[in-house]
Amino acid sequence: MYNMKKIQRFSIFLVLSLYIYSPLTISKTINAVASFSILTDIIEQVGGEHIKVSTLIKPNGDLHSYSPSPQDSKLLLQSDIVFINGLGLEGWIDRLISASGYRGRLVIASHGIHTRTIDGKYNKIIDPHVWNNMNNGIHYVTNVMNALIATDPKDMNYFKKRGKEYIHHLQQLDIWAKTQFAAVPLQKRKVLTSHDAFGYFGHEYGITFITPVGLDNETETSASDLARLIKQIKKEKINTYFIDNQTNDHLVKQIAEATGMQVGGTLYPETLSNTHGLASTYTQTFKHNVNMLLNSMQCIHCTSIG
Ligand SMILES: [Zn+2]
Repeated sequence: MYNMKKIQRFSIFLVLSLYIYSPLTISKTINAVASFSILTDIIEQVGGEHIKVSTLIKPNGDLHSYSPSPQDSKLLLQSDIVFINGLGLEGWIDRLISASGYRGRLVIASHGIHTRTIDGKYNKIIDPHVWNNMNNGIHYVTNVMNALIATDPKDMNYFKKRGKEYIHHLQQLDIWAKTQFAAVPLQKRKVLTSHDAFGYFGHEYGITFITPVGLDNETETSASDLARLIKQIKKEKINTYFIDNQTNDHLVKQIAEATGMQVGGTLYPETLSNTHGLASTYTQTFKHNVNMLLNSMQCIHCTSIG
């Protein structure tokens, strides 16, 4: 009798041990850091329940005037993997990595994307706002998916499935945007925005964006630059302006006043809104931006998407 009980106890222990240590039950959670909120959302869409992402530049934050804090150093040190956009957007990343002592993997989400350059004061500058073209967003997803698989190979099928579904969704959004804008006469596809964040978007979807400020929205705009812009806006009959969710828009309003332009609304070129806002995911920012632009162009054949 005593031996039977002993055997029973041992059997229960054995079953529990197998259950606890079975590879099928081990679920890894990757601790990641992303430099800005759009990238965070893309990583979460692919990583699902196997990832926890901390964001350095929070929703509605300014990407171009960011300065890392000691708290950011701590986040890096506690993480398994760090994601940045690259293309000069995070000029502070090397300093932050060396200050934190982080020795893990640094993933450049924009790696492999064909970039656009503009003329700077002294040399050519690469435009970092690549995500505003949905095809580039698909590159981000692929890079993120590969990095997650390399970090957590056991969950490869999970990441691949989610990545594939997400890419399909982005492809549909790209087709929708192209179809909608194609229905708008070229002359109407011109707007004024705060800074030069929609270069990739404009190239892909056939929109001309006029901006008083360059790529980093900190460049000084001279009085003669403003006068030239006002002249161009009047000549080309551009009648709608938009403001960015995250930047100072006083120059745009000044130009709008001088030219009698109408306000088209707020665009989300580079950060998400907060959770309860209009654009709390990457795809929502894109849909919101496309819908707002189409509305301003008064396209009677176009269909908004929610
Ligand atoms: Zn920007």
